[in-house]
Amino acid sequence: MRALLPHLVGVVVAGVRRVGSTIRVAAEPTGERGRCPRCDGESARVHSRYRRQLSDTAIGGHPVTIDIRVRRFFCDTTDCAAKTFAEQIPGLTQPWARRTPVLGAVISAIGLAVAGRAGARLASRLGIRTGRDTLLRAVRAIPDSKVRDVRVLGIDDFAIRRGHIYGTVVVDMTTRTPIDLLGDRTADTVATWLKEHPGTEIVCRDRAGAYADGIRSGAPDAVQVADRWHLWHNLAEAVEKTVTRHRADLRPPALDTSDVSPMGQSAGAEVESDRRLAVRTRERYSAVQQLLSHGMSLSAIGRKLALDRRTVRRFARATDLDELLTTSASRASLLDEFKPYLHERFNAGCTDAARLTREIVELGYRGSDKTVRRYLQPVRAAHEQLPSPPVGPSIRQATGWLTRHPARLTDDDRSQLDALLDRSPALVTTHRLVHDFAEIMTERRGSDLAAWMTAVDADGEPALRSFVRGLRRDLDAVTAGLTLPHSSGPVEGHVNRIKMLKRQMYGRANLDLLRKRVLHAR
Ligand SMILES: [Zn+2]
Repeated sequence: MRALLPHLVGVVVAGVRRVGSTIRVAAEPTGERGRCPRCDGESARVHSRYRRQLSDTAIGGHPVTIDIRVRRFFCDTTDCAAKTFAEQIPGLTQPWARRTPVLGAVISAIGLAVAGRAGARLASRLGIRTGRDTLLRAVRAIPDSKVRDVRVLGIDDFAIRRGHIYGTVVVDMTTRTPIDLLGDRTADTVATWLKEHPGTEIVCRDRAGAYADGIRSGAPDAVQVADRWHLWHNLAEAVEKTVTRHRADLRPPALDTSDVSPMGQSAGAEVESDRRLAVRTRERYSAVQQLLSHGMSLSAIGRKLALDRRTVRRFARATDLDELLTTSASRASLLDEFKPYLHERFNAGCTDAARLTREIVELGYRGSDKTVRRYLQPVRAAHEQLPSPPVGPSIRQATGWLTRHPARLTDDDRSQLDALLDRSPALVTTHRLVHDFAEIMTERRGSDLAAWMTAVDADGEPALRSFVRGLRRDLDAVTAGLTLPHSSGPVEGHVNRIKMLKRQMYGRANLDLLRKRVLHAR
């Protein structure tokens, strides 16, 4: 029996019996002496004995209770305030604890992995009697390991509740481990944390603003590094806006204008429908923004304008009209990549919209059948089978070609990009500027950034010039980000992990619990 209970140190097992479904282990301390917790003096003079019960990990699915006859000793130290003291068995009992340390560790581990009721159910299946609240208490009681001097830090924000409350995750970039979760993303909070944890030399972060201010006041000597991934992401957004602005260039010129093909009419109709969409978007945007400024709630606006909640929210949150037009345009492009297929099938004689929709759904189309019908309608009446005119790329495709590393373009992408650049001088300039920025970034030539920004000032499209204005507001950190080897990649990974852990916690995403799980669940 002793061999089955290797963790019962400092006691001898006197007997084991089953009582109902519980296994009860009787144990006696083996030591002669106890140590006074007050004065640290040893004593062998026994005052009394009493029974202590400890819950332990299950055996064969049966809960285990350890019954120990522990002693109360007289303290023999003359000036000690304690007359008597209760014996503790190192590694087994702790004052007031009703569980063995081994069981305590199992309960914490369950709580970390599966919080809430599901955790209590799992524990019960493992023969551990515990409630949801006990699990939560166990998680909250896990001590934090001491944060040692961290030379390179990464910080980023994450949503505690989506769209409302944000926190900050602090990552040790050398070990790539999260070391703290802060309850907001303000400059003061970051500054206070940095003052309490001195020694930081480099801080990687994304957004300027609050974090930049907090680092400046909390760790004034630290070098701030703007994250490359975010820089590239912002540049790609600027490129998408530029492509959207020049989307007329995406469509190749018709092969033969004297011979209007059915699909040619359809393309014309699509341009017209794009234009109508833009007009409608503009009208809705100003209506929603105006009602918002009068303090009307989203649901009231929805009722007034007969729009569904999702649409109202999208229009309410957009910072400018361009943003909405970009999304509308990319929505319209759901069908784009299937258009060549539709042309081919249509010209082969299949004019049944429902059937064609089924066929492209098989190929991955995720839009509605209404869109397909609307697209095919103008050509339904025509029966001539004509060669299909070339179809241009979607905004997303073109943005991808312009921002992808040239080595990662297929031959087909490459030739389509070349054709696009042949008909769009604006995109030629954009392509060159993006390529130069990519080189500065991958070769860590931050010193060349100033010249690049000057080039954008001179020839860049509006969206790129706006990107450059953003860089100038945070120039030191951006230059460091394009020069130093550090990157916020690991922080990004932890922000994603926090999202995952939070989803598992359902309504219980209190910051203290989330923090323990982020720091201790491995
Ligand atoms: Zn004492």
